[in-house]
Amino acid sequence: MKNTYFVYANSNPLSQEIKEKILVSLKDDYVLDEENPSLVISVGGDGTFLRAVRKYIDKLDNIVFTGIKTGKLGFLCDFSSDEYQTFISLLKDGKCNISSHRLVSLKSPYFSSYFVNEARVEKIFDTLTCDLYINDEKIETFRGNGFNVATSLGSTAYNRSLGGPLIHPDIEGLILGEIAPINHNVYGSITSFVLLRKDDKITLKGNFKGTFIGGDTVYQTINDDINSEIVITLSDKKVQFAHFKEMRYYDKLKMSYVKGSK
Ligand code: NAP
Repeated sequence: MKNTYFVYANSNPLSQEIKEKILVSLKDDYVLDEENPSLVISVGGDGTFLRAVRKYIDKLDNIVFTGIKTGKLGFLCDFSSDEYQTFISLLKDGKCNISSHRLVSLKSPYFSSYFVNEARVEKIFDTLTCDLYINDEKIETFRGNGFNVATSLGSTAYNRSLGGPLIHPDIEGLILGEIAPINHNVYGSITSFVLLRKDDKITLKGNFKGTFIGGDTVYQTINDDINSEIVITLSDKKVQFAHFKEMRYYDKLKMSYVKGSK
């Protein structure tokens, strides 16, 4: 039986061109199946990769993902656009390593989902006040813009811009980061990033009216003016990456973030 695949490309003309070339190159060996692909090839940047995963969020057990980057950063992508022919040959060879990464789960009465990079609870113009619990123990009453809870894999994304640490993606855990905490003698908070163990549970309790909750490329605004709870944990749900060539994490870090290293 032939393998099934789908190409998820953004609207960039180069992405569309590469998508067409992939469709032609794979037409005799693979079956295009948007509903139930076993392989999803993302063509674009990291945002495109995240949207590709989101499209199949309920079918992740049966799918492996790989990315070809066109422009911008593409930290989650193994191939650049000019390597697309190499990608096709390696894909047809069929040898690949699979890496899998646990997603972060956010559960609330309003919106619940799983995310590759991070779960966010964030208010922008006026401040959010809520209680932070770790494993049901109250840590602080927080006041500020909110929280970013990143996976190790997502540590290079929003977490990095907030000043958070980069964590090797093989380390299972969550990075709890406060966003713009107001820190004085009434609302004192941790302020440092906290690396949580894989089984730790974060609970936020308060009135979240006007707060955005979500993660990766999706979010929702809470409109209810009542107290509620948001629970964030490392999920057992995983995203699987197919690596058709060796990707060394520290090389990737260097190429992506150290000026002059290509
Ligand atoms: P976007 O605002 O259009 O792009 C955000 C940037 O984050 C892009 O440069 C993207 O890379 C990069 N990125 C995404 N995931 C990454 C990862 N795992 N490692 C390194 N860089 C990564 O948003 P988007 O394209 O819809 O992507 C959503 C993600 O953006 C969220 O998960 C969040 O982490 C991130 N974000 C970052 C900030 C910030 O840094 N201030 C603010 C909001 C959201 P590409 O250029 O390759 O797409």
